[in-house]
Amino acid sequence: MNVEQELQGLLQARVKRNEPMSLHTSWKVGGPADYFVVPADLNDTCEIVRYCSRNNIPLTVIGKGSNLLVKDGGIRGVVLKIGEPFCYLHWEGNRLKSGAGTPLPYLVRAAARNGMSGLEFAGGIPGTLGGALIMNAGAFGSYIGSVVREVTVVRYDGSIATLQHDEINFGYRHSSLSGVGIVVEAVLELTKGDAAALERTVDFYLEERRRRHPQLPSAGSVFRNLPGCPAGRLIEAAGCKGLRAGNAQVSEMHANFIVNLGGATAADIYSLIEKVRQLVKEKFDVDLKPEVKVIGEEK
Ligand SMILES: Cc1cc2nc3c(=O)[nH]c(=O)nc-3n(C[C@H](O)[C@H](O)[C@H](O)COP(=O)(O)OP(=O)(O)OC[C@H]3O[C@@H](n4cnc5c(N)ncnc54)[C@H](O)[C@@H]3O)c2cc1C
Repeated sequence: MNVEQELQGLLQARVKRNEPMSLHTSWKVGGPADYFVVPADLNDTCEIVRYCSRNNIPLTVIGKGSNLLVKDGGIRGVVLKIGEPFCYLHWEGNRLKSGAGTPLPYLVRAAARNGMSGLEFAGGIPGTLGGALIMNAGAFGSYIGSVVREVTVVRYDGSIATLQHDEINFGYRHSSLSGVGIVVEAVLELTKGDAAALERTVDFYLEERRRRHPQLPSAGSVFRNLPGCPAGRLIEAAGCKGLRAGNAQVSEMHANFIVNLGGATAADIYSLIEKVRQLVKEKFDVDLKPEVKVIGEEK
């Protein structure tokens, strides 16, 4: 028996071998995952976690891969993607219960159509609800943690736990859910509003993004902003706009975005990240910290 057969025997979902991570990241780069699974349900999720823990196999969780730089050598062990089987939503009054695989743009539009306010800022954030909760995704001065009531996770021992808002810390692009387990579901608390007005607000924010952000493959902002100073402003002032490494480029449109012009590698992107950090350090003596998560192995 090998890992693939053993794991497959426990699951409804199909286990894929050597799956290119470039198919699962918004940058469209990344080498192969040894084993790649999209669990079909909660039971599959628990089985994968228990199997990996029992056999000391590294486990990496992803959503839409929109905040990830996966290196060209890929990821050893199992990659578990919280995807479509966890895409659902149910209303309970002004509370929205949703699966962690639900894409944020879908969730935001559904809430606005239903006349429920609190998520409009997030209509253009291309991740899943699970990824957004881990990252405490935010935009236009709002962030997802502020509307969270409770979050259900599969802990790394395979047990299931529901955490209340007070038990979770939400900070700038960080939440204490990171490291606790796999987010599978959350309840958000929204407030009543006018559906047509809410949809107009969502459209307004989407249009703002279209105006300001490049449309080529990226992972959004690469670096964390500094208190009172957007990282993009420093990067631009350090003369980095348009810098290239292979087929990766610091966007001409928004300096905190690195875009894949087509056929870039993770190594191209990573070397640009390092170059930008070096130039900003030299010019302003500021250490930029990446907002994107860099995972996997060199080729
Ligand atoms: C064009 C563009 C614009 C963007 N704009 C914004 C923005 O305005 N604001 C903002 O905050 N972000 C923005 N982002 C970044 C990104 O969309 C967010 O960080 C998003 O919340 C990541 O969600 P994801 O599902 O893609 O997570 P992934 O990138 O797959 O994963 C991110 C992290 O969360 C973990 N994770 C993912 N799902 C789970 C889960 N279910 N359980 C446990 N851990 C999990 C992963 O291990 C990883 O550490 C943008 C990205 C792009 C490409």
